[in-house]
Amino acid sequence: MKRKTFSNEMCKLKKECERSALKYKSLPEFAQADGEDGGGAASAPYSSPENSFSFSDSECRSENEIECITSAEKCKILKLWAIENNVSQAVLSNLLSALRKIGIHDLPLSAKTLLETTKNKSVIKNISGGEFTYIGIQTHFESRSFPFLNEKDQVLIDVGIDGLKLFKSSSKVLWPILGSIVDFPKEKPFTIACFSGKQKPSNVNEFMKDFCDEVVCLRNNGLKVGLINPILKRFNVRLFTCDSPARAFVTGVQNHNAKKGCPKCCQVGNYLEKRVCFSKELCELRTDFSFKNRNDLAHHNVKFREEENVLEEAGFGMVSQFPLDPMHLVDLGVVKKLLHLLVNKVNVNVMNDKLKFLSVWVPSEFGRVCRNFDEIKNWKSTEYRQFLLYSGIFVLKNCVDEHLYYHFLLLHASIRILSSERSYKGEANIVQQLLNEFVNLFGNIYGDHLISFNLHSLLHLSNCAKEYGPLDTFSAYKFENYMQYLKKLIKSPTNILQQLCLRIDERKNLIEDKNSKLDAFFINHKKEKDSFCFSEDTGPFKVIDMPIESEEEVVVGYKFKEISNYFIEPLESFSGLGILLASGLSDEIIRFKKKNIKYKYFCIPYENNFLLIPILHHLFHEFAH
Ligand SMILES: [Zn+2]
Repeated sequence: MKRKTFSNEMCKLKKECERSALKYKSLPEFAQADGEDGGGAASAPYSSPENSFSFSDSECRSENEIECITSAEKCKILKLWAIENNVSQAVLSNLLSALRKIGIHDLPLSAKTLLETTKNKSVIKNISGGEFTYIGIQTHFESRSFPFLNEKDQVLIDVGIDGLKLFKSSSKVLWPILGSIVDFPKEKPFTIACFSGKQKPSNVNEFMKDFCDEVVCLRNNGLKVGLINPILKRFNVRLFTCDSPARAFVTGVQNHNAKKGCPKCCQVGNYLEKRVCFSKELCELRTDFSFKNRNDLAHHNVKFREEENVLEEAGFGMVSQFPLDPMHLVDLGVVKKLLHLLVNKVNVNVMNDKLKFLSVWVPSEFGRVCRNFDEIKNWKSTEYRQFLLYSGIFVLKNCVDEHLYYHFLLLHASIRILSSERSYKGEANIVQQLLNEFVNLFGNIYGDHLISFNLHSLLHLSNCAKEYGPLDTFSAYKFENYMQYLKKLIKSPTNILQQLCLRIDERKNLIEDKNSKLDAFFINHKKEKDSFCFSEDTGPFKVIDMPIESEEEVVVGYKFKEISNYFIEPLESFSGLGILLASGLSDEIIRFKKKNIKYKYFCIPYENNFLLIPILHHLFHEFAH
């Protein structure tokens, strides 16, 4: 009888947790972030269906199996649930107390015990402008195992530095220094250090010193990787990802909107119509050597004209290791500005109708659909990105003058090429020409006074890609989702760093990257928006069924009878970008293994055709020519 009661209680616990899970489902977590856009490999780059704990795992447990769950297992399940749903300690303690009242006595009394919240061991010190704590790089790599690094002799990380406002009602900001393991975008970033204050840290040497000291030490002595029997590997930092104000602060130079603000060349801005505007051409390029030599003294902040900052002392390339960030520069910079200018030039009603029409065609990889132009002030970076790379070529067509459309296509094609693994390097020179034309025309169409730092910086973008790879591999998207995740960990405006350190410590072993399904396609023959793909054998293909044959997934469907370019200027859309119009499904039904799908399309019905636009993070293969 007692066993029966216990079993029922476990079912109640599960249901209670499921209800609470639903309640908290709306709480954002990095695992549910922005679909295709973001993190380059974007689609929720740090999560997968596999590394999310799911109560469906226990769904099929029989009562007997439930009876066999040990107390430790119950604690683990509940702990995972609480952490993944970002449940506050107060709510969790209430739940534990409720469970005790209904007869479950083998769970801890308090949330702290359940979560194994340790005493705060972090050292929090005061630096100029606020509080600072250094968690460390080595600490992260010793916290658990990293099987995907087994084959690597060297661990390379990218470092993200940016600030975020924590609360609407308070001016408190958080400035974390984040790390991300290069070549493993599925692995979520980690926190190396954090500053909290009323505004950004005011002394870069204080803010970056511990980081620089540790990097120098790890470069010299190696990095220990693994929890048990750690293995010593070589270590280095590949690059820093920052928006323009953060980059200027960290490197100790003039702000991006100052006359000598370009971090990549020596051009001098001009005042036009009360704003600093920049050159439509590249000037003499800055180098790490010219930076160190202070060749252009006025580019540096007064404090650092005579002395080096801690990053220079630590041997970082102050020009080469700070590529321009495509998320802030392109999506939140140029695309945002361009669309705001366009919206003022044209009637947006038809374009709004088109965006509305598109909402059912946006593939499942995208977490967000572009809102209409009446809400453009609230658009997020991923909406601008989606518009630039996908929907814009459909929405703007025949809604804006041809020369404005052509101008948009210059940017669309450039950023597509630089975002694609197959083309970013080989076609960087073509992109340079396209971007030169885009920037020049921008001045002619909208006025030279609007050639801002971001517009000018486009001219440097293909060089950054040549050096570091497709845009997404060094954009701030991979850190952005994690920043939002950190923000959710902080519940109150006092003792911010203490809260953060405790929450990070509680989570350190729980969400590990298992073979993520990031690279898998969301092909679903029951949803038209998810059923267009490309394979080398068939070319563009529409999936109508997905049976399992000999334990392998097979796709069944049709090829298209006709394919043609969607546009031919500034380059042919099909051969240059893989974008095409397809029509007329063939009569013959074709089947092949799902693993032969090379990439998936964003499909838009267009004048009795399908406009097919390759989804970028699947583009690791040649287009058919
Ligand atoms: Zn420049």
